[in-house]
Amino acid sequence: MSTAKMIDGKACAAAVKARIKDEAAKMKAETGKVPGLAVVIVGDDPASRIYVNNKRRDCEEVGFVSTEYALDADTKQEDLLALIDKLNADAATDGILVQLPLPKHLDEKSVLYRISPDKDVDAFHPVNVGRIMIGDYRFLPCTPAGVMEMLKYAEISVSGKECVVIGRSNIVGKPMSMLLLHESGTVTICHSRTHNLAEHCRRADILVAAVGVAKLVKGDMVKEGAVVIDVGMNRDENGKLCGDVDFESVATKASYITPVPGGVGPMTRAMLMQNTLTAARLHE
Ligand code: NAD
Repeated sequence: MSTAKMIDGKACAAAVKARIKDEAAKMKAETGKVPGLAVVIVGDDPASRIYVNNKRRDCEEVGFVSTEYALDADTKQEDLLALIDKLNADAATDGILVQLPLPKHLDEKSVLYRISPDKDVDAFHPVNVGRIMIGDYRFLPCTPAGVMEMLKYAEISVSGKECVVIGRSNIVGKPMSMLLLHESGTVTICHSRTHNLAEHCRRADILVAAVGVAKLVKGDMVKEGAVVIDVGMNRDENGKLCGDVDFESVATKASYITPVPGGVGPMTRAMLMQNTLTAARLHE
């Protein structure tokens, strides 16, 4: 019976941000350019406000300029699109991030598709999604990129391994599977219609849970010695933050596990900074 080693997302994110800070300082010294991230928030959703504040703090930490555009909840679609157009044309803006979800009356897809692919630091634009598919990418979606960085940090090789991803969302599950495939993993994607989920999971050398169901993955669904990455961010029956993985039972089987909080979450934030730096290089 193994007791899993923890992959510390906070420590990994700190290392990534320290590198980004150095590279941004070098860019400024050599070219005068400072990476700039524009964050657009519409309405006053409290969770979105926390995320936007965190992004501002991350930018300050690595030496980027962050500019916030806070729009009223009843902002019209054409006004939001006009702002995106303005930011697309603005030389000081390297990355544009529209905080989701948008209020119901706005068409999320047309807003995201309006962002220039060269400034699309969330990697949601079809051009960037297509580039990920063919392995010719500039920006990677932040959460899957964060997971890959954590695997690297823990010196876990993906090549030839059985990788099982639970979840097929456009933001996490699908691109996660593609990145594991690019690293030569043998990838299975499970989802809400999958029969015998536990059976698939038990085959995994690397198991990534991106579902949104608290503690779905139990110890008896995990192979002895597997690497278990928990992307989920849920509330348990007591309102406490928890992942998709039942940490206690899985930690006795896995070789590596990521905690929630303090696992994939901080890495997602760090990878947004990475994408903003990449965008600044692109515009240099
Ligand atoms: P989503 O709701 O878009 O997708 C969930 C996926 O899980 C779907 O593809 C669905 O088919 C699958 N699913 C649902 N129930 C299932 C079940 N019982 N068995 C197997 N598959 C099932 O969610 P998402 O945006 O991909 O996010 C997933 C989780 O990751 C959420 O908890 C979210 O909060 C979290 N998340 C965390 C971060 C982070 O930075 N840590 C970032 C993004 C999302």
